[in-house]
Amino acid sequence: MKPEPKLVRGTPLDEKALKRGKTFSVTYEPRLRYGWDTGQAISRYLAELKEGRLIARSCRKCERVMIPPRMFCERCFRPTDEWVYVKDTGKIFTFSLCYVSWDVRRLKQPEIPAVIEIDGASPGMGILHVVKKIAPGKVRIGMAVRAVWRPKAKRIGSVTDIAYWQPIKN
Ligand SMILES: [Zn+2]
Repeated sequence: MKPEPKLVRGTPLDEKALKRGKTFSVTYEPRLRYGWDTGQAISRYLAELKEGRLIARSCRKCERVMIPPRMFCERCFRPTDEWVYVKDTGKIFTFSLCYVSWDVRRLKQPEIPAVIEIDGASPGMGILHVVKKIAPGKVRIGMAVRAVWRPKAKRIGSVTDIAYWQPIKN
């Protein structure tokens, strides 16, 4: 049988001991800087968003057009082949009516996060975004929507360069 580890008694510290300076402490404000590399595919994707365009990558072998683009096809296990512009229209692939804001406040009017299947990309290929300008009860899977872009001067190379998606009226 293994011997029990020997317990060493410590000195309990309470709030007072800490405040009275009975312990050694250090105050340090770190000046942290960081860089973020989006990689080859997403760099181009973001640069194109700034220009008001959606771009995908195609794989010749499985004939898929993938958005967001990727440089490697995870199905064929080989590099993808070409850049392909796709439309800024699509269909609601799935959605949610969200009555809680990002900072956990209750909302009277729900936000409508949705995956938009992009026209020109392969079935099931889409981006997560938000749908507006429609009554929550009227949103349906398969509904045709179009991107509403921010003004060019306000775009920063982000998926938020599309302000939201709205239904295409027939
Ligand atoms: Zn492939």
